[in-house]
Amino acid sequence: MSHPAIKAVLSYLLLVLLSGAGQVSAATSDYLWLEDRDDQLSAREVMALEPDQWRAFDPNQVLNLGFSDGAFWLKVTVPPQPKNRVLEIRYPLLDVVDIFWVRDGDIIRRYESGDSRPFSSRPLYHRNFVFLVPSNTDTVTAFVRVKTQGAVQIPIEVVPSADFLAGEQLTYGWQAMFLGIIVALALYNLFLFLIVRQTTYLWYVLTVVSSGLVHLNFHGLLFQWWWPDLPILNRYFTVPIIGLAMMAAIMFSIQFLAVARYSRFCYHFLMALMIGSGLSVVYGLFGPYQSGIALVAVLAAIATPAAWVIGIYIWCRGQKLAGFYVLAWTPLLLGHLILAVSKLGYLPRTFLTEFGPQIGVALEVILLSFALAHRINLERRRRLKAQEQALAIQRQANQTLEERVCERTEELERANQRLRSISFTDGLTQIPNRRQFDERIRDEWSRAGRHGQPLSLLLLDIDYFKSVNDRYGHLVGDDCLITVAAICAHEIQRSGDLLARFGGEEFAVLLPTTPEDGALQVAERLRQAIENATVYPGAQEAAVNLSVSVGVATVIPPPEETYDELIRRADEALYEAKGAGRNRVMAFRGAHTASADAP
Ligand code: GH3
Ligand code: MG
Ligand code: MG
Repeated sequence: MSHPAIKAVLSYLLLVLLSGAGQVSAATSDYLWLEDRDDQLSAREVMALEPDQWRAFDPNQVLNLGFSDGAFWLKVTVPPQPKNRVLEIRYPLLDVVDIFWVRDGDIIRRYESGDSRPFSSRPLYHRNFVFLVPSNTDTVTAFVRVKTQGAVQIPIEVVPSADFLAGEQLTYGWQAMFLGIIVALALYNLFLFLIVRQTTYLWYVLTVVSSGLVHLNFHGLLFQWWWPDLPILNRYFTVPIIGLAMMAAIMFSIQFLAVARYSRFCYHFLMALMIGSGLSVVYGLFGPYQSGIALVAVLAAIATPAAWVIGIYIWCRGQKLAGFYVLAWTPLLLGHLILAVSKLGYLPRTFLTEFGPQIGVALEVILLSFALAHRINLERRRRLKAQEQALAIQRQANQTLEERVCERTEELERANQRLRSISFTDGLTQIPNRRQFDERIRDEWSRAGRHGQPLSLLLLDIDYFKSVNDRYGHLVGDDCLITVAAICAHEIQRSGDLLARFGGEEFAVLLPTTPEDGALQVAERLRQAIENATVYPGAQEAAVNLSVSVGVATVIPPPEETYDELIRRADEALYEAKGAGRNRVMAFRGAHTASADAP
């Protein structure tokens, strides 16, 4: 697209954007102005000036005359019209606004107002300067003297009273809505601050309140509502409240975007602007008004776009919340832009130039409030995730602990079993020891008693063992014990039978559910096996021949007796076997124990 074409399209877009609803049509009056640099002319002198001293201006554009120590005079000629009209100056921050209504060369009415005078000095109780046109039938001329320390902007127009009232309804509605938004969001976020105790919310509340006050002040509403009789406050309010609004907004931005984490430079830059804004608050209270206004204007012109750009930068660096911030900051930036351009007199006055900044602020605070709510959501999600992680770690730890406990328990179990088997086994012969024998005989005794079955016991004693020890030594004696145990273990294979070392060189064999015949057979088999075995005490020596005597007892356990009785009987039979010459098996027979088999 060619250059002029782009320009045409942009101009058209701008026109569409900025024209339309609310545009005020200027009455067909003559609008002239002049500057009285030394502020010496009286109304009469001004009325007497030649026409060529005056300059014309277009009331559709804001008459913007910059800063001046002098006074400005406006001359507005109002031709007769058959309806009531008002002359309105729509900038409430002008210090002095004097009006002289002149008809046929005579001053017929005069008012002295301005925001340096009490609100009651105005003929109409209105936030702007509004004066009734005194005649509908004659041409009248208004000579208006304006003098102010701030920017000299004089948006002046003459409109039918009916139109003025209609527009007023709308404007007031908008102002009320703006105020409502400010109050609601400030309170809501104040409560949020009280609950979550994060200073970001407090800075946000301060930003909302102070920006709201700045705009209500710009529209003359604070003077009208809060201090109509104290015009001196107007001089000391405007600059400090703008400084405060910037301070709060910058502090909020720094915290909300976590600027320090992303860029030290941006952080220091914003901190410098924040300190500058703080100083401008002090300067506004104690310094000259004109330079104070210039100072905050410059600071705002730097801070607003800077915050926007930093927001975009941090957004690009991956901070999600910065997206909301940029979104919220954009309407504010546009509002400021529109305000600046319109104040420079480049834009026709429209609804948008009048309310653009306020709409910008309203959208900004709404979107930022949404962002803050979203932030709570993000933090909640982060907290939940952290909780889940902590839980998982704990679960893992529990599992590890459980596994370790299981391992330890198993180890203990194994150790116990080892200990148990050690404590139930004879160390020398590796067959069950006396303790195990005692346990088993107790169980078998009661089981045999319950079932009415016979229980047999063999007691074996090695013959002349003392002499083996004496002759070959104790170690050979031990070998003999091991050999006898091994032979017996080999012979006693039936499950349920128990071979144990009974003590010294005596062995016991417990045979459950075995009648005497069977027990005698087993005993005889053992006796023979041992008789046939040989033990070599050393390379040079002859083999040792061993024999055993065996006592056998069989009982169907009667309920009134204990197993000691069985042992006693077997022992008695053994004693009989020894007495009968050894190397034999004897069964218990009461008074006369019988020999089972004599060699
Ligand atoms: P008998 O039984 O035929 O009447 O004669 P004996 O020589 O076997 O007599 P006694 O039963 O009184 O002797 C038992 C001997 O067994 C006494 C002890 O020196 C020996 N003895 C007991 N326990 C052990 C042991 O663990 N190792 C060794 N080497 N000898 C043992
Ligand atoms: Mg003995
Ligand atoms: Mg013996």
